[in-house]
Amino acid sequence: MPNIPKMQKAMVFDKPNGPLEYRDIPVPTPGPDEILVNVKYSGVCHTDLHAWHGDWPLDTKLPLVGGHEGAGVVVAAGNLVTNFQIGDYAGIKWLNGSCLSCEFCKHGGESNCADAILSGYTVDGSFQQYAIAKAIHAAPIPKSCDLAEIAPILCAGITVYKALKTSGARPGEFVTIVGAGGGLGSLAVQYAKAMGLRPIGIDGGDEKAALVKKLGGEHFVDFTKSKDIVQEVIDYTEGGSHAVLNLSASSGPLNASVKYVRPMGTVVVVGLPPDAKISADVFNQVVKSISIKGSYVGNRADTDEAIDFFARGLVKVPIEIRPLNELADVFRNMEEGKIVGRVVLKCSD
Ligand code: NAD
Ligand code: ZN
Repeated sequence: MPNIPKMQKAMVFDKPNGPLEYRDIPVPTPGPDEILVNVKYSGVCHTDLHAWHGDWPLDTKLPLVGGHEGAGVVVAAGNLVTNFQIGDYAGIKWLNGSCLSCEFCKHGGESNCADAILSGYTVDGSFQQYAIAKAIHAAPIPKSCDLAEIAPILCAGITVYKALKTSGARPGEFVTIVGAGGGLGSLAVQYAKAMGLRPIGIDGGDEKAALVKKLGGEHFVDFTKSKDIVQEVIDYTEGGSHAVLNLSASSGPLNASVKYVRPMGTVVVVGLPPDAKISADVFNQVVKSISIKGSYVGNRADTDEAIDFFARGLVKVPIEIRPLNELADVFRNMEEGKIVGRVVLKCSD
């Protein structure tokens, strides 16, 4: 049996925007239906930054250990757990658990469950060395996968894969990815390509342009330089993008996306800028028959499928590995839009 310490290192904050402290805290004990994961790596998602700011109309647990892209090794399991063995690789996802018996869970809408518990938000997450997950919701990770590289699949990957399915775009159609050089976006470009779609990226700066092109983006629109983003997308796609994924944490681009989407196309809303509203012209929406849909992470089947694309080498995760105690600095870089791809924190040896 693995040797589990009593205390561990974690990144903790006590109040919104309060100091992010590298602390010694107790290692939690798994309940009967839970596993304890020795987290090796955790991606840093923009959602973790929203949680620290207290941006959203949903309170976090306090004090909080954030993080929901944790990849590691199962070191303990409760007596009801049948789907993980000690030593297996497991992923800590945003959706830590759900009731599995409500209307939404029964139809595969586990993320819409009113009793869902959320890693790094309503329960402690993966910015620590040992984290708890409900076994039934934890992601099974094949042993062939690199734990640092797969970590961002556990939120960013699942989310964009599900959002692309939600868009209804068919092979050969254009999908415009807003925030294409960020954590979600850099994966969305590749899932889109692997699904036979034609990705167009929108983001800012030459480094992000180069990344999007390298990952398979067919065209790049720089929002810091373009004189008319709407016209640029319409011209390139010869009539508008069949689908749009809004992945940025800014509210500005939402209203542009309903203008350059193609008639009968779908705008998928994924990024969660605080207090944002979408304003769509009713005449335009009706005569172009546009759909606007929200998409929120993914269920267990989406998880397995998103991991399978990664395991088959169809999606590469552009990561920079940094120590766990540099979280505050990573948040600063993220706020400034300076992170190209995803930062992954090394949580344990
Ligand atoms: P990120 O910071 O890694 O990436 C965001 C990207 O958007 C950056 O590259 C930034 O340069 C770009 N951007 C900023 N303003 C822009 C503009 N005006 N036009 C185009 N691009 C612009 O963030 P992330 O981790 O990819 O997360 C993005 C958002 O998605 C966050 O709000 C996060 O909370 C949300 N999110 C939602 C879900 C869900 O299930 N719906 C899941 C995960 C994350
Ligand atoms: Zn996330």
